[in-house]
Amino acid sequence: VTEVIVVGGGIVGLSIGWRLVQAGATVTVVDARLDGRASTVAAGMLTPVTEAYWGEEALMALTIDSMQRWPAFASELESVWAKPVDLELSGVLAVGFDTDDVAVIDDLHQLHEKHGLASERLRAREVRAREPLLAPQVRGGLFAPGDGAVDPRLVVRALAEAARSAGAGVVTGTVERIVVEDGRATGVEVGGLHRRADVVVLAAGAWSSLVEGLPAVVVPPVRPVYGEVVRLRARTPGHTPGHVLRAVVRGAHVYVVPRRSGEIVVGATSLERGYESTVTAGGVYELLRDARSIVPALDEAQLVETSAGLRPGTPDNAPIIGWSGVDGLLLATGHHRNGVLLAPITADAVASAISGAGLPDVVARACAPDRFASTEVRS
Ligand SMILES: Cc1cc2nc3c(=O)[nH]c(=O)nc-3n(C[C@H](O)[C@H](O)[C@H](O)COP(=O)(O)OP(=O)(O)OC[C@H]3O[C@@H](n4cnc5c(N)ncnc54)[C@H](O)[C@@H]3O)c2cc1C
Repeated sequence: VTEVIVVGGGIVGLSIGWRLVQAGATVTVVDARLDGRASTVAAGMLTPVTEAYWGEEALMALTIDSMQRWPAFASELESVWAKPVDLELSGVLAVGFDTDDVAVIDDLHQLHEKHGLASERLRAREVRAREPLLAPQVRGGLFAPGDGAVDPRLVVRALAEAARSAGAGVVTGTVERIVVEDGRATGVEVGGLHRRADVVVLAAGAWSSLVEGLPAVVVPPVRPVYGEVVRLRARTPGHTPGHVLRAVVRGAHVYVVPRRSGEIVVGATSLERGYESTVTAGGVYELLRDARSIVPALDEAQLVETSAGLRPGTPDNAPIIGWSGVDGLLLATGHHRNGVLLAPITADAVASAISGAGLPDVVARACAPDRFASTEVRS
């Protein structure tokens, strides 16, 4: 039986822990519960189509693959947890506020057409017919029937429960260092004690580059990308949008994610601010200004919560998944703006790598840990 320690208990570390314990490993997930951890701030959009970008084709293939895994992942979790995780697969509307904003939507639609992704271009009247709460100014949009959302807070709770009930340890603690002896990871140091393991999985999100003990060449190039979200609750029946909405408003991106519970998540800013996770008045102002431009009825909603989290960003926006240059150390980090969407494929890939079956091709192509080092050598 392989003994595995997972460093980090966000959605990535917990998904991995759960899949590994199911596969017969002895697993401990250690989490420091740091302020700004991303998984409990995230909106939980599952948007491989409406959040696709030119030049990120390998990442696109990965997000589409993971999306296909979500229905089974969610229903398996729900059957263990006996509660819903609010998976919503009724499609996502992407809209543009003014003419320049619609040009951004057109560009996105061209990307969809090029790759054969399901996406329907809609005129102003057609978007409002689908979503009557949209402001009359909204000039047009597109509908991606395969995109959706899930509630990541519920998923994180369900995963911790599922991992524990399958026999994993899910514990609070700070991993001070990964212990490397003779070129091999032999465990971690927590509270000054060396906890031994056959395999260490580094899944510490935006903090992954700060965990000590690793040779410099192995440290993943992950940086914190700050994002704020606002959580609202509709007070009037009929004032909740019927779809997840992504919008470009005077050049800024904003999204509105309604949930069955009545919660409406508005997000998200994206800034490079180091390890700062304080919510700013200006950030909240901009989010609400842009969100109410597209859905004026949000003015009436109750403001429930503001929060900020740190996305684990990488130089090419794709995650880092696979064996590192140190034996026994596997990296699963850098999921940036897609970590909720990518949790199922990441967990399956890590379980497959540890079993000796290797990584699925779609993961190996997009996520190789050594891809940044080799770019440096070439240039
Ligand atoms: C505002 C915002 C909106 C987002 N919206 C979406 C979205 O709609 N859809 C989507 O797919 N993704 C979204 N994301 C991205 C997504 O949240 C992240 O990619 C994902 O949560 C990363 O998961 P993680 O487990 O790697 O990181 P985290 O959730 O940050 O977890 C890392 C964990 O590691 C722990 N840790 C760190 N250092 C140590 C240590 N030394 N010892 C022990 N534990 C440690 C921390 O306490 C933390 O709990 C959003 C992110 C933000 C910030």
